[in-house]
Amino acid sequence: MSKVITVKFGGTSLADAEQIKKVAEIVKSNPERRYLVASAPGKRFKDDIKVTDLLYSCYSEFAKGDEFSGTLAKIKERYASIISDLGVDFDISSEINGIEYELKKYPPVDYLASRGEYLNSKIIADFLGWPFVDAAEIIFFNENGFLDEAKTFMTTAEKLKSLQNAVIPGFYGSMPDGSIKTFSRGGSDVTGSIVARSVNADMYENWTDVSGMLSADPRIVENPKVIEYITYTELRELSYMGASVLHEDAVFPVRKAGIPINIRNTNSPSDNGTVISASLPKDIKRSAVTGIAGRKGFTSIRVEKSQMNGQTGFGARLLYIFSRNGIPFEHCPTGIDTLSVVVNGSLFDSKREDILREIKNELLPDFITIEKNLAVIAVVGEGMVSVCGVAAKIFKSLAEAGINIRMIDQGSDELNIIIGVDDSDYEKSINVLYNSMIKDGR
Ligand code: ASP
Repeated sequence: MSKVITVKFGGTSLADAEQIKKVAEIVKSNPERRYLVASAPGKRFKDDIKVTDLLYSCYSEFAKGDEFSGTLAKIKERYASIISDLGVDFDISSEINGIEYELKKYPPVDYLASRGEYLNSKIIADFLGWPFVDAAEIIFFNENGFLDEAKTFMTTAEKLKSLQNAVIPGFYGSMPDGSIKTFSRGGSDVTGSIVARSVNADMYENWTDVSGMLSADPRIVENPKVIEYITYTELRELSYMGASVLHEDAVFPVRKAGIPINIRNTNSPSDNGTVISASLPKDIKRSAVTGIAGRKGFTSIRVEKSQMNGQTGFGARLLYIFSRNGIPFEHCPTGIDTLSVVVNGSLFDSKREDILREIKNELLPDFITIEKNLAVIAVVGEGMVSVCGVAAKIFKSLAEAGINIRMIDQGSDELNIIIGVDDSDYEKSINVLYNSMIKDGR
């Protein structure tokens, strides 16, 4: 049986006719690429405005009773130039008139926001000569606004079963009353994942404007290597620490079904990109560390009490104080008689007096020490479990660079080592770790 690939193209890949022609070439070069999920036209140049952003502005002008026809005309113009450059026969005026007519019935903002992908997908479908399938007819949310997975997967599978190819707009679906609801921003990634899962695709290709996920932040490290293979778990750790390549919710539908995701670059289609899957291929050679990511601005609250480890529930009570003040904790390194809670610094500052008072009253600690301006860096890699000396190398390279480590934490799954350094040492630490653990490999 031939394979099925679901492809999703992001906004920059579909920003104008020239980009759409590249997309058509990519899709037509492999007949296994059968279902295409499209974003709205994104930015063509640095200061350009995404169509979705224009749609949100248009709605807010309308809702305030301001003149919105100028913004709507800009949106129409974006599509009109795509249509004429592609040479398709598409009546954008009547589509825009229809949208304006609906708008006057005061639909939720999601309706207007979704029209970017709706129109783009219809035009792309015409250009490719593929059928258009409206996401509102196959993707469903329940009364509470959560994806109705069972109904969505079943309906999408049923609808696409009979179609060799289809173009489906990303970003939205429909509520039980038929009104349009969008995912959060960047949500076309989620649509792509849902479609891949529903048709039981062999691969979910997510085409964007970078050649895969980078092993470190390119704003800090010059030309970081692309990660060729990464597991879902590693991706989750790196994304949580700020490395972003996909909408967070895009992983879940395909992950459950064991469908790999391949991040690819529309502007450089021969690059292999990054493959994200449940486990790594057996024969690949990788360094023990897959990627490095981090964030600044944490505060550590270190609570010390002699004989703490003999007391039951000390940690639970300490964490409860944070949770009832609405402060999530990020890390919790422990010693025999000390427990530190690492939290977002500005969130903590907003509740600082209450939290400290409650700790003092309820836990009667010997000392509380507060360390501010802490940067937390995660060094992530499944390979760490089987290689000895990874931690030693990390600490040695930081020590040799004169960087003082203020916190160490290792996840219980041996997937990452978390290091706390001074905010002012953050960029330097990332570079040192990248050079010793990834660039030179091991
Ligand atoms: N167009 C939407 C946005 O800009 C969704 C997407 O592109 O994924 O957020």
